[in-house]
Amino acid sequence: MVEETTAVLFDRIKSALPPAASISSIMYEGSEIVIYTKNKEFFADGTDDIKKIVQNLKKRIILRPDPSICMDMEKAIETIKGYVPAESGVKDIYFEPHFGKVVIEAEKPGLVIGKGGETLREIKRKTFWAPQVNRAPAIPSDIVRTLRAIEHEESEFRKDFLNKVGARIHSGWKETDWIRITGLGACREVGRSCWLVQTPESRVLLDCGIKPGNNELPYFTAPEFDVRRLDAVIIAHAHMDHCGSAPLLYKMGYDGPLYCTLPTRDQMALLCMDYIEVLQKEGSNALYSTKEIKEMLKRTITLPWGEVSDITPDIRLTLLNSGHILGSSLVHLHIGEGLYNILYTSDLKFDRTALYEPASTDFQRAETVIIESTYGASEDIQPRRTEAEANLVEACKKTVGRGGVALIPSFAVERSQDLIVILERSGLTCHIYLDGMVWDATGITTAYPEFMSKELQRQILQKGSNPFLSPLLKRIGSHKERMQVLESKEPCVVIATSGMLLGGPSVTWFQNIAENEKNSIIFVGYQSESSLGRKVQKGIKEIPIESNGKKMSLTVNCEVQTIHGLSGHSDIKQLINYLRRLKHTPEKIVINHGEASKCLDFAKTAHRVMKCETIAPRALEALRLK
Ligand code: ZN
Ligand code: ZN
Repeated sequence: MVEETTAVLFDRIKSALPPAASISSIMYEGSEIVIYTKNKEFFADGTDDIKKIVQNLKKRIILRPDPSICMDMEKAIETIKGYVPAESGVKDIYFEPHFGKVVIEAEKPGLVIGKGGETLREIKRKTFWAPQVNRAPAIPSDIVRTLRAIEHEESEFRKDFLNKVGARIHSGWKETDWIRITGLGACREVGRSCWLVQTPESRVLLDCGIKPGNNELPYFTAPEFDVRRLDAVIIAHAHMDHCGSAPLLYKMGYDGPLYCTLPTRDQMALLCMDYIEVLQKEGSNALYSTKEIKEMLKRTITLPWGEVSDITPDIRLTLLNSGHILGSSLVHLHIGEGLYNILYTSDLKFDRTALYEPASTDFQRAETVIIESTYGASEDIQPRRTEAEANLVEACKKTVGRGGVALIPSFAVERSQDLIVILERSGLTCHIYLDGMVWDATGITTAYPEFMSKELQRQILQKGSNPFLSPLLKRIGSHKERMQVLESKEPCVVIATSGMLLGGPSVTWFQNIAENEKNSIIFVGYQSESSLGRKVQKGIKEIPIESNGKKMSLTVNCEVQTIHGLSGHSDIKQLINYLRRLKHTPEKIVINHGEASKCLDFAKTAHRVMKCETIAPRALEALRLK
């Protein structure tokens, strides 16, 4: 199918509008088309005319004011303040003149929008700016502020960039007569997730991670991978094994869009910045610098869950909840006009957790499903969630009850926020110290309650009871503060990064609490084979450490516990249930993201249950889907 050229398309839009619409320009903004008007009345009330065109064109069209009709900025701020109720907690109002947009950042966006969007419409009619409302995080977050500032400062660049992306998407295509995928990582292993999807027209990358621990990259040397010919990169969620090498693409010469959800963007930036910092402290060089992270952020296009968006001439993307971490997504690709669908689960949790709804099955078809298998072996059955939560609470209460410190090493953006919600609800009365990136990640979490479970949204947004604002939570901001808590001998719970005791504050805490039997270390997540966490978990009593440059031995006398069932990954039962719940049985199930034995075992189980082709390819194996 060959689409009409941009010039023809834009002419059609112009001629479908009344001359009084006074169109100053029409541009792409990614997959959307934006019309700028010089007519105030048309800007305020032209929505109906636009709706008619949309019906005919099947495109998403947005109406914005030409800068010449926008109200003077200072006056506009006064006008907006007059319309917005004081309880909405407006933190900031700023303008993006290139887009004709005014951004209102508030603690309670719902009150700024008004019933049925009434207040926003009024702001639009009075100021002739297109209003956009952002939620101010309940815990102030440096990273959220920095990223929003980048978006703001780079708005001129972004306008031009998004127009180019849109022109490519609308450039038309001849025929999609083949589709192939190549595993560039996470095949029969956990880490460096990366899939290349190719059609005659398009090249899209799904995830772009590193292998934590030794920083191995995806197989960028694969003959079919050419970074300069990539059309789009999609990041499913912000774990380093899924996003850690994305900034590197921009160093290698990629300058196209990266698609993800808003919380993924923020957490990804946080993790990649931290990764650079950790390596610098160790005296080694990172694969990329903050410069490439910024280049990536300038080109990031965020999508809400459920919105269908063209990303190349023949591929349409939808992100849906995957239940794994904040903003984590299933990636659904619709290829050609009704030709083929791929579902890439990335990491998925098909169970209700403290924070999230189970992974979505809300799409019509998926001929090929690429699914994870972290716990894909037949024996990988985890205890029930309620049982696991009760065990965690019990372990913490017992330790605190005998006057000890309960240390929970955790990933900043995986279990930490889950743990906070569970412990906050448990009636625990001691302090819960958050150390390392946990605090920053929690700050990001408070900016996006819309990505949490319905129950938690109700609790936070309607009842105004936010577990992340509990007075029990305390931030550890420096080594001095950490040592003060340790010296005070205060019984408490500590959640600290990293989750596998691979450096970071959790190691410092561990070195200081290990020798006293009153304390405990509680593992709640995956411990990789070579990690210090795995050694401690296995019960090794004497651990060689380095303190102030001296080699010493640490005796582990504290209680060592592992709580199973709190993982953000599905166990084998949940994986199979998920496949069964899909509206149509897939033709092919591709298994990745698991140790080799688990991938192969899961491929057998899935084949038996689903009665379709299942395959656990090795890295670099290409599969032709169509
Ligand atoms: Zn993950
Ligand atoms: Zn993963």
